[in-house]
Amino acid sequence: MHCENMMTVLDKCVGCGECVPFCPFEAITTYGMAIVDKEKCTECGICVDYCPIDALYLKGNKIKDNNRQ
Ligand code: SF4
Ligand code: SF4
Repeated sequence: MHCENMMTVLDKCVGCGECVPFCPFEAITTYGMAIVDKEKCTECGICVDYCPIDALYLKGNKIKDNNRQ
């Protein structure tokens, strides 16, 4: 079984880079589209709110899960 990072950049990403400065861990770079460094990403979910076209997807969003408690 793979232990994949839960942060996913969807194909619709246009590589605008708007999400890059909002990652507190500097895990995002852009080469035509956003690339998340799985070593740096803590899956905090902050970047998800800053993509204007919802191209960032976090499975089991921890922020939403925390709010449920
Ligand atoms: S994930 Fe969204 S904000 Fe980030 S580069 Fe792609 S389209 Fe732009
Ligand atoms: S989930 Fe958090 S750590 Fe991972 S790329 Fe987005 S803002 Fe950065």
